[in-house]
Amino acid sequence: MRRPCTVCGAMKSEAHHEDYSKPLEVTWLCRTCHKAEHRKTHCINGHEYSAENTYVRPNGDRECRICQAETMRKSLAKRGIDRVISRVGV
Ligand SMILES: [Zn+2]
Ligand SMILES: [Zn+2]
Ligand SMILES: [Zn+2]
Repeated sequence: MRRPCTVCGAMKSEAHHEDYSKPLEVTWLCRTCHKAEHRKTHCINGHEYSAENTYVRPNGDRECRICQAETMRKSLAKRGIDRVISRVGV
């Protein structure tokens, strides 16, 4: 049963899972609020912003360490620098 967005009341909503281990517990959010909610708790690739996984920039922006490492690994791999990759420990 679809419900309006719990944040702004928009009728067009989608199911947001607060906890993926409880698939029946959903929060209804419109696309905009849904994205905003995910930015709060997860990076764009769905990694959780936990204390260990979050790098806070001096300007307050948060960065996902998994994605940072992944981006670095890809850019290094593209340039074929395998030695550096093992040193970074990804
Ligand atoms: Zn909304
Ligand atoms: Zn969601
Ligand atoms: Zn991430």
